Amino acid sequence: MLTIYEFKLEVSSPCQNDCELCAHADLMRHVKGFQLSLEQLDRFLFYTERSDYFIRSLSIHGPGEPFLWKHLNEGLRRLKRSRAIGWMTMVTNGLLLDRITDEGMDCLDRLFVSVYANYNRHESLARFRERYGAKISLWDGTYFWEHATDRTATAPATGGCNCFGPMLFNDHIFPYCGPPVFGAAKAKGVDVMQIPHIAVPLGMNYMAGYREKLMGRMDICRYCWANPNFAGRWKTNDTRKTFPDTPPDAIRRVMPEAGAQREDVSPAIR
Ligand code: SF4
Ligand code: SF4
Repeated sequence: MLTIYEFKLEVSSPCQNDCELCAHADLMRHVKGFQLSLEQLDRFLFYTERSDYFIRSLSIHGPGEPFLWKHLNEGLRRLKRSRAIGWMTMVTNGLLLDRITDEGMDCLDRLFVSVYANYNRHESLARFRERYGAKISLWDGTYFWEHATDRTATAPATGGCNCFGPMLFNDHIFPYCGPPVFGAAKAKGVDVMQIPHIAVPLGMNYMAGYREKLMGRMDICRYCWANPNFAGRWKTNDTRKTFPDTPPDAIRRVMPEAGAQREDVSPAIR
């Protein structure tokens, strides 16, 4: 058996926000309106089980808003009953919490809610936290990490990666990369699917060609947001969408310490 410690599952590309520094933006736009079908999900589970892989931690996070996945509750149910999946987490912007059922929540081990400046669902979030308690973690979305103002800038690729794979997107496994590889390809001016080693079709033993030494050391990594060798800074996150009923102190209503001074360096980089 091969244990895969973390795996990213991309289920839905639309999002109610359009954050200026969203690291998933280029994957969100790669297939507009993408929805992982139940047939694709079943194929993924079939090949993962038959290949004798065990995914210790599965992260369901987009590339857009996973609560916009048409198959949210049924998809979670199918994932939970698979013997190939261990711990399951999901990241949401918290704008559609009412879409998940109790059974869907039972399938998750942790739900991360990112709270942004335009947040307008305070009452439903309060009810949700009361109901599911410690299963809910909040993330302060005041600032995002901007790795470089010039998107075509490069940095040495020395083996680090802040958003590694494997990832499933649309019948392809990306053994090394999370969503930022799509932005890196755009910055480099290449078709992501033509990059050597970057993706393999979903099938038996899909991790067989994985070579550890390529992680964070491919040429494409020199352009990638997830490359920790880039200098950067915290920048106020602009969601670029507004809602008429957002209170002016939206994040602080949920997280009183939100927006506190950040250190100069991303914690992920040290
Ligand atoms: S909420 Fe913002 S950061 Fe999150 S997926 Fe949507 S656009 Fe990206
Ligand atoms: S291109 Fe490199 S740095 Fe970017 S996600 Fe893939 S492995 Fe990580």
